Amino acid sequence: MIAEHWDVVVVGGRIAGASTAWALAPYAGKILVVDASRPTTFWPQQSTWDRTGNLAWAELGLLDTVLACGAPRTYGDTYRVGDEVVERVYPLEDEYSYRMSVSREVLDPALLAAARGRGNVTVLRPAQVRDIVVDADGVRGVRLRHERVDRTVSCDLLVLADGRLSRNAVRVGAPAYRVVESPWFALLAYYENLPLATDRSYFSLQDRSVLICTPCGDKQWCVALDLHQSLIDEAGEHPARLFDRMVGDDPHVGPAVAAGRRTTSVGGAGRMRMLRRPMSGPGWCLVGDSGYHLDPVTAQGTRAALVTARILRDRIAAAGSVGDADLSGLTGERDAALEEDWAYTEQIVAPGPG
Ligand SMILES: Cc1cc2nc3c(=O)[nH]c(=O)nc-3n(C[C@H](O)[C@H](O)[C@H](O)COP(=O)(O)OP(=O)(O)OC[C@H]3O[C@@H](n4cnc5c(N)ncnc54)[C@H](O)[C@@H]3O)c2cc1C
Repeated sequence: MIAEHWDVVVVGGRIAGASTAWALAPYAGKILVVDASRPTTFWPQQSTWDRTGNLAWAELGLLDTVLACGAPRTYGDTYRVGDEVVERVYPLEDEYSYRMSVSREVLDPALLAAARGRGNVTVLRPAQVRDIVVDADGVRGVRLRHERVDRTVSCDLLVLADGRLSRNAVRVGAPAYRVVESPWFALLAYYENLPLATDRSYFSLQDRSVLICTPCGDKQWCVALDLHQSLIDEAGEHPARLFDRMVGDDPHVGPAVAAGRRTTSVGGAGRMRMLRRPMSGPGWCLVGDSGYHLDPVTAQGTRAALVTARILRDRIAAAGSVGDADLSGLTGERDAALEEDWAYTEQIVAPGPG
């Protein structure tokens, strides 16, 4: 039996879900965010973005929240390709011309707190959506489990922000219509007290690997390493061990990590698939990785997630409220907005002949 009604139920409370709840709050009566993870879970997905990411945060009205996370802004980087090293300064286009990196353990709770601060957003965490309630007119609600109790809630709009492995996307009838298998394995770990500048990042593009080192908090750094699967196969080592060895061997980061300390395990993901699913249907909408997943190798996933949240927000804002919004045609709008990011990432993930 359906006992509770919400204007919007958001499944997933990280970058896409928390940002969407924040963005839709002025246009909805009550919003429920349901997230399956525990606040203490290490979430090995980096979040570094450039000026375009800052613009995307600003468009959602969340840049101040992100800046309050305390991560340093970087205004240039040391950029190594093979043995060639260039010291780059980012062009000063406007006030957003810097790169940032915020650990997910800091960023995601800050976004959820901002959403809660709207006053009409309730967060259940950890709680899991286990099924979707659908009738002939579309999605009607969800069945969820929270504190070992099963509940069924109804909603006017179900927003799926449950990540690239979303099972609920299949349940609402949103199959992937474009898929690119990725040969890249994305790994990362956090470190403290590295003797490195805090206003610069570091990139190293080598044969079948990309290493990114960014300051992400007070005396904290994120080191991310994307490895081509063929390199892992050749090395015959566990990816986490290969990570440690390659990071240690890097001429810039190696001496720094030897002087500092790794504060987390090495985590990440491999055998990923870039994918696109329809963005909306009767009673539902997909934001973030659940509907549009870019391989992490180009570090564009955060921006893409924010763009999808903004597209949904704009459509609802134009209608005045969630209940009055027509969500048809969002897929084309999203795909057009993110076409360059997709093409750039696909070219690295699955380069064409020549
Ligand atoms: C190793 C790695 C490195 C990356 N590096 C970068 C980078 O440097 N820059 C960048 O821009 N992007 C990067 N990305 C991509 C970026 O992390 C993602 O694009 C972004 O996190 C997507 O956010 P999301 O909110 O859509 O999904 P997620 O962060 O995956 O969050 C989904 C949430 O949904 C919850 N959930 C799932 N199922 C349910 C359910 N049934 N009920 C309730 N809750 C559920 C999960 O617990 C989770 O909390 C990286 C990704 C990886 C894997």
